[in-house]
Amino acid sequence: MVWRCFQCGDSYDDRPAFCAGCGQTGSVYQLGRRARAEIDSALEIASAADLVRQANRVEQLAGCPGVMVGGQALVVLAGPPGSGKSSLATRILDGTPGPVIYVSVEEAPGPSLGQRLARLGVKRADFGVIGWGDADQVAAVLRNRRCVAVCIDSVQVAHWHARELRHLLAVLPALRLVVAVSQVNKRGEIAGTNELLHEADVALEVADMSATLVKSRFQPVQGDSNDKPIRFPVLLPVLPSAIVGDEVRLQREGFRKLRLLRDAPISEGAQPHRDAALPESPA
Ligand SMILES: [Zn+2]
Repeated sequence: MVWRCFQCGDSYDDRPAFCAGCGQTGSVYQLGRRARAEIDSALEIASAADLVRQANRVEQLAGCPGVMVGGQALVVLAGPPGSGKSSLATRILDGTPGPVIYVSVEEAPGPSLGQRLARLGVKRADFGVIGWGDADQVAAVLRNRRCVAVCIDSVQVAHWHARELRHLLAVLPALRLVVAVSQVNKRGEIAGTNELLHEADVALEVADMSATLVKSRFQPVQGDSNDKPIRFPVLLPVLPSAIVGDEVRLQREGFRKLRLLRDAPISEGAQPHRDAALPESPA
């Protein structure tokens, strides 16, 4: 068995207590294949009509301004730890209407995952979270709930390979979107293999809470030299403390001035205040 650090890429024969290469704890995962599952041998069958309909149905990918997906898509989010992949995956699922499942094997369902969901405003009852389960258990939930989207976070830790993710789309009729969260170490390598990027219909590189479209089967990524790459912040900017009715300018390119319509959260007893860094609204 080989173990590899997704921070720095160092490999080990046995699981180390911490990574000697970068000093991180909890960044070393096992390389390998998951156990063979029944879902792997399910027959892939489709009609030409279905395939054409899916190919022609192109729509906006939830949570990703400017990014398009087809009627079925394998979307890969690749980036280093802490870059915002999980938050973006959560936003994509939350914005997708219909039952969805988040397979969170890197971060077990618990308080910190709950806090992330709360921070992102996710509270749908049909947004299911699986902490650990084998491939057949996950597939059974997807089938029984007629889920339209699933995220595997991360494919390295859950041992899902690119072709197995594609297979899910082929054998689960309701499933339209598979979001694969993929660790990239600091050398920029996708941990394990590049086959994920080859298989992906849409690939987004996530770094420092910002996502860039690097591959798409549904739209040009490299336009002419004037075209800017499609790039967007993973999180919408947090509104600064302000009074209802205040106009606040969010200091980020591409965001316009907003008028607050709702109370901003203010700690109990504290007076609302302006962030000194914000310019006054022009009169
Ligand atoms: Zn390391």
